[in-house]
Amino acid sequence: MKDINQGDIENNFPLTARKGEKKPIMVGDQVLGGKEVMIIAGPCTLESKSQIMEIAKAAKDGGANCLRGGVFKPLTFPYGEPLAQPDRDSNEPGRDRKEVLPLNEILQTAEKRLGYMKEAGEKYGLPVVSEILYASTVPMLEKYVDMFQVGYRHMFNMDLIEAVAATNKPVLLKRHYGESLRSLLGACEHYKARGNDNIALCERGITVPHTHLTNSRSILDIQAIPALNHFAPTVPVVCDPSHATFNRDFVPAMTKASVAAGADAVIFEIHPTPETAWTDPLNALDFKTYEKLMEEIRAIQDIVRS
Ligand code: PEP
Ligand code: MN
Repeated sequence: MKDINQGDIENNFPLTARKGEKKPIMVGDQVLGGKEVMIIAGPCTLESKSQIMEIAKAAKDGGANCLRGGVFKPLTFPYGEPLAQPDRDSNEPGRDRKEVLPLNEILQTAEKRLGYMKEAGEKYGLPVVSEILYASTVPMLEKYVDMFQVGYRHMFNMDLIEAVAATNKPVLLKRHYGESLRSLLGACEHYKARGNDNIALCERGITVPHTHLTNSRSILDIQAIPALNHFAPTVPVVCDPSHATFNRDFVPAMTKASVAAGADAVIFEIHPTPETAWTDPLNALDFKTYEKLMEEIRAIQDIVRS
């Protein structure tokens, strides 16, 4: 692993390392990188229309700026694909969890659920953020989302870089848990060099030899937040404490720490009944915890960003 040096700044990621004030990105009508910390809240997976409507209302009532929700999930194993399951509020029988659906069927359900999310976002005035997994779905996804999320597994996915950079839509690019900041800045430069300047960089935990609990997958690299602000001062910085901690008991503290450390946005998962969430039931916050956390975030924001 190499330190970031002057040669990098001049030759490897000059656009990303550009000097100057933070350059805000518009996500729909919301500002990322402005005075207010942007809060992006929502479920890990979009489970039904009623679910996303209920969550969008709670997100808005609590003061979030944007709605998150995944349809394309980067699953570790091929089974239990959420897009293979009927909507949570339908009476259709569930499929065999081991059934792997053809991509065209996946895409149909994905588009239907993205429609729910867009409707929820419009109803409650929340721009929408969702993960892109397949480069071929950019034209479809683009119709429904205000910001593409690129997951940690895809930090250097060249198909996604080419397809997403060509849209000029905002991108929330997550740092892979095994990648240095230097590499993240390089990935960012790939987007910027292809003409998309609307990139925000997201810290979501790094791996270390052991973590605090066996199911806490990684350690949130809080220091990455001031480091990104130092090396890429114009680029908005996002923190994802849900996936870094993978433990709802740790999410509020890590969220507050990231805002205090200078994050321009936080993305976290909320759910009406977290333990029943289709994916990531361990990290989602219930609405009450979310509301309290929002008050604390705004108080910290007033101290560190005034
Ligand atoms: C997510 O945001 O739900 C997600 C799967 O993200 P990550 O790429 O950080 O795992
Ligand atoms: Mn998740």
